[in-house]
Parts: sequence; structure tokens; C-alpha cells
Amino acid sequence: MIKVAVAGYAGRMGSAVVDAVTAADDMEVACGIDPFGKDVDFPTFETVAEAIEGASFDVLVDFTQPSVVAGNLEVALPAGVDCVVGTTGLSNEKLEELASLAPEGTCLFYAPNFTTGAVLMMQFAKAAAPFFPEAEVIEFHHCNKKDAPSGTAVRTAQMIADARDFTSAAPGKETEIAGCEGARGTLVDGVPVHSVRSMGFVATQEVIFGSMGQTLTIKHDSWDRSSYMPGVLLGIRNVGDKSGLIIGLESFMN
Ligand code: NAD
Repeated sequence: MIKVAVAGYAGRMGSAVVDAVTAADDMEVACGIDPFGKDVDFPTFETVAEAIEGASFDVLVDFTQPSVVAGNLEVALPAGVDCVVGTTGLSNEKLEELASLAPEGTCLFYAPNFTTGAVLMMQFAKAAAPFFPEAEVIEFHHCNKKDAPSGTAVRTAQMIADARDFTSAAPGKETEIAGCEGARGTLVDGVPVHSVRSMGFVATQEVIFGSMGQTLTIKHDSWDRSSYMPGVLLGIRNVGDKSGLIIGLESFMN
């Protein structure tokens, strides 16, 4: 039985993780961590340090906030707790720095997107990137999302840039009119990224590739937070025998 601590258990994603772990046969919720908790039937703590002191668990799952996730990992990783992180907003440099705090045999697994469909969307984008001079990423999320652009959009743009041996001129960036800077999106590794925030969306992303006389659009929709759970459970099941920093659900999908 894998014992799981859920940081952010009272939040939207954390609640879904608690339900998914509870429903799985091979794992259980050992405790929840959240300074703004709610009534539940497992032990709860306000901080990761208190949880390590007061409970025993193999894996920490973190779906908290960009401003607090690094602090949580700075406590959990040196204590030898494997971490499965979905909270976005951490740069690759920061993830490497955090992973270096962990003893040998402890894993920091971060996935900017835990939906298998979104991972495939990124893989398809990577495959298409060398054949199209232009690429644009447009992501759509609910209004309460705490970071823009999304971690998935940033990762997609980086994968597109890495997959091609040229840098796009991102045409039109220089034509933005005064007072409307940003109309062509923000550039992530030379790829324009646009963020839409609106009620009605959970998480949608389109990648539009352009070449002479043709466009290719790859689109993924998450209709419900349960779409993330198979990926989170895959992470929990795999981190135990891994070490160091692992980024991306695709690492466990092959
Ligand atoms: P939310 O605001 O609903 O929940 C966050 C929870 O974290 C809250 O209950 C809050 O009280 C709690 N919290 C705050 N500080 C804390 C701390 N120090 N320790 C423990 N808990 C703390 O947010 P959400 O919609 O559930 O999203 C959480 C994060 O997950 C966001 O960064 C979001 O972008 C990310 N996310 C990632 C994926 C993915 O696939 N990687 C998918 C969806 C959301």
C-alpha cells in the first residue's frame, strides 16, 4: 500500500486527488496538508513540516499554489519523501535546484499537465514542429487560475522550439501598436503564447502550425478535473523506484 500525503487537499485539484487515491486499491491517503483545510476523515496538518513530524507517508502530492510549492518541496525532499508535483509556476532551474536537495533514491516528479491527451498533444506538436515555419500556442482556462501562461503552454512552446533547427521571426510582434503591447502574445523560446481566462473553461489548448497555404491545428480539451487523475496515479505508482528530477508525464507513458 503506497501512503500518500496530499498538499492542498482542500483545493479543487487536491480534493480530486483525495478521491482518486481513496478509490485506488494500491494506495491510501495518509494525511492532508492545507492551512485552509476542511473536515475530512484522515489526519490533517497545516504545513509539510508538521505532517512529516506527525504522520508517515511515502509520497507527497502537491497541488497548492505557485507561491508556496517550492517551500513545501524544500521541506519534503531533504526528508527523503518522493514528490509528485502538479502545481505550476516553477522554472526548470528552480526544479533542478529543489531536486538537488533530495538524497539519492528520492524522486521529484513534476508534470505541467497530468492529462494523457495533453501529453499526446505536446508529442504531436513536437513531431509537427520541424515542418512548419510558424507556430502559435493558445491556452484557455477558468478565471481563478493563478498563473499565465499555463505550465502546459510554456512546456509546449519549449518542445516546439527544441524540435526545430530554426528560430521563427514570430511575424507581427514588431507591429504591435503603442499601448497594445502583447497583442501578438508573449514569446516563449520564440513561440507566441496567448492566454485566455474565462468562466466556462477547465483547460483547453490549441497549437496552430502554419506553412505555405496550410495550417495544422492540434487541440485538447479537459472537460473535468477527473481527466488529470489517471496521470497523477501513474506518477504516484512510479516515483518510488526513481531518483532525481523527472519532468513530464511522457516519462511514464512509454
Ligand atoms: P486551489 O486554489 O483550488 O487549491 C489550492 C489549495 O492549496 C487551497 O486549498 C489552499 O488552501 C492550499 N494551500 C495554500 N497554501 C498551502 C500550503 N502552504 N500548503 C498546503 N496547501 C496550501 O487550486 P487548484 O485549482 O486546485 O490548483 C492547484 C495548482 O495545480 C495550481 O498551481 C494549478 O495551476 C495546478 N494545476 C496543475 C495541473 C496539472 O496537470 N499539472 C492541473 C490543474 C491545476
